[in-house]
Amino acid sequence: MKKRQDYISWDEYFMGVALLSAKRSKDPSTQVGACIVNEKNKIVGAGYNGLPIGCDDDEFPWQKEGEFLDTKYPYICHAELNAILNNIGMDLKGCKIYTALFPCNECAKAIIQSGITEVIYLSDKYAGNDIFRASKLMLDRARVKYREVKVSISSLILSFNEVDV
Ligand SMILES: [Zn+2]
Repeated sequence: MKKRQDYISWDEYFMGVALLSAKRSKDPSTQVGACIVNEKNKIVGAGYNGLPIGCDDDEFPWQKEGEFLDTKYPYICHAELNAILNNIGMDLKGCKIYTALFPCNECAKAIIQSGITEVIYLSDKYAGNDIFRASKLMLDRARVKYREVKVSISSLILSFNEVDV
């Protein structure tokens, strides 16, 4: 018997973990997940966009428009920053970060400072926006590589039905 051929690649696996993490987000409009992997292909952190610990999901605003303090923007911690801060307690030097969306300038700073050396993203749909241009300027200068994820599947279904296992 030969080994199974349709197993997922490392890129698909780690981006899959990032996408699964995003499912934990309470944000009604944007759900982003991130996954940090070390040089031995071991997952050392994961995160999604959400409020800081202790800040109640039901008390803080989720809207995108209105007075600054009445929007989600001053409060939300992005997926990449959460993944960095929630890592299993190791030096992230030389690690890679998988993220559904290209990191913003604030997350780029955290990525650089943490020692992560590669960003793998699924979407770069806001590339023309100044926030992402600033992000790339910093990543380039800091020699943090970035590339689009390589996938050969467009979706993956997970079943929690025990008869499928
Ligand atoms: Zn960010």
